[in-house]
Amino acid sequence: MEKRGIDVLKDKRISKSTAFNAEEKKMYGLRGLLPYAISSQEIQKIRVIENIRRKESNIEKYIFLSALQDRNERLFYRTVIDYLPEILPIIYTPTVGEVCQQFSHIYRIDKGFYITPEDKGDIPELLGNWPEKDVRVIVVTDGSRILGLGDLGCNGMGIPIGKLSLYTAGGGIRPEYCLPVMLDMGTDNESLLHDMMYLGYPHKRLKGQEYDEIVDEFIRAVQAKYPRALIQFEDFVTHNAYKLLQRYQNEVLCFNDDIQGTAAVALAGVFTSLRITESQLKDQRIMFLGAGSAATGIADLMLKELVLEGLSETDALSRLSFVDINGLLVDGSESIMPHNERYVRKEPSMSFAEAIRELKPTILIGASGAKGAFTREIISLMSSQNDRPVIFALSNPTSKSECTAEEAYEYSEGRVIFASGSPFAPVSYHDQIFVPGQANNVYIFPGVGLGALAVEASRLPDSVFLIAAAELARQIHPSDLETGTLYPRMTSLRTISFEIAVAVAEHLYEVGLARLERPKNIRQYIKNMMYDPTY
Ligand code: NAD
Repeated sequence: MEKRGIDVLKDKRISKSTAFNAEEKKMYGLRGLLPYAISSQEIQKIRVIENIRRKESNIEKYIFLSALQDRNERLFYRTVIDYLPEILPIIYTPTVGEVCQQFSHIYRIDKGFYITPEDKGDIPELLGNWPEKDVRVIVVTDGSRILGLGDLGCNGMGIPIGKLSLYTAGGGIRPEYCLPVMLDMGTDNESLLHDMMYLGYPHKRLKGQEYDEIVDEFIRAVQAKYPRALIQFEDFVTHNAYKLLQRYQNEVLCFNDDIQGTAAVALAGVFTSLRITESQLKDQRIMFLGAGSAATGIADLMLKELVLEGLSETDALSRLSFVDINGLLVDGSESIMPHNERYVRKEPSMSFAEAIRELKPTILIGASGAKGAFTREIISLMSSQNDRPVIFALSNPTSKSECTAEEAYEYSEGRVIFASGSPFAPVSYHDQIFVPGQANNVYIFPGVGLGALAVEASRLPDSVFLIAAAELARQIHPSDLETGTLYPRMTSLRTISFEIAVAVAEHLYEVGLARLERPKNIRQYIKNMMYDPTY
């Protein structure tokens, strides 16, 4: 360590704060700069958690943790890893939604990388200002569709920052490898444009060719400076999410978490539900509420799986139906977009409830952002047609959920197999305790990212997400199934990510997309790569 004195304490990557021992204090010129007592990292962690618990609102907890991340990075990650179930809802959904809404008002510390239309032509030069030599994961958004909250412009930066913290905490990817990026192309959110505190580019959104050119310049600049980096597209408005994925997927190491990550985590939940109902995917009828990027991504991945299980594409498509804001997606529906064209049905137009009566889905997946859309009537209907209806209310944050866990268990008289996008507390129904599983993308992206990095993948085919889904489903303990939980415990996230990374890495070697020569022992190699925040 070259730094000395106060510079050591100001460097988040090397500071141990009160954990520097007497010898280190002498060596680094820290005597007099710290109190007498020496705290172990364990004690520091308890101090942190006491501080968090003292805060009354989640947003204050977030601000406290964010400041810790900038003061003492290893302590931040030690605490996040060891208290993940408690901290995850603070650094990610649901609190991160509120954080994004307030971003310009609570802004304190400069984090991440911002590009605006004024930077066109200079993006490679701008990227030169980022201090890290070796970036391996980039999470990029343009803030146009943050969670279910709509266009939050530059305030959406909370999302890349949060996701990358989870890449490190959950997937063991070194923090210095991570780069959060905001492509700030303006906003169409009038209240932000009228907010004097708004920190983003204060103009209407750039669209069309000019937008595409900036995205392209950014991607090329990344490839030139960080050729091994994985780019994760995040929270782009649906048509751009698909457009960018289609344009870059076969050329650049990238994926879209809203489409592909969500698909893998939802499919893993469905795989687990089939263990409970002792049935097969090809015998299910799956209905989606919402025909946006999340739902269509799930359907696309299910389609691949159904075909792998032996169905023809036509048969597989007949198992999948969509209800959007105007009812069942049928010929002539207003909501048809290029990404959901193949799911358009020949039936006459009908309402959500009519579609359930008519098509008799066994699995209902909500990704609509429509709070309360799974009413008592809808859940009762699903329950009258299925012994064990499978219902996922994936919309985030909690305020947008199609139903609460309590409603799902109550309206189905305890028969539902339920998962949600936002966390819900265990539910007691007629002497039984149900523990609702959270279909959180965090089960997937850190492991996929770690696997891709480990082998220096050249790109990520869709098959990687099938592999990740199957591996996640394998991680669920039979005892969890008894309480209706479809996902493994969050406390095992690092193990889960590690196992997914190994499976993904093996697959990338099989399909010839790994650029690194195969290490002798891939498990050990990946294990050694994983960041450990212990001092
Ligand atoms: P999107 O904007 O692409 O799609 C939303 C779709 O829902 C649109 O097609 C819209 O027309 C439709 N819709 C809106 N109101 C509706 C209504 N009342 N009835 C039926 N359809 C309606 O958004 P997205 O990326 O697909 O995300 C949708 C939701 O899923 C968000 O709330 C998001 O937070 C959530 N999500 C959850 C997870 C997860 O749980 N792991 C992952 C990704 C997205």
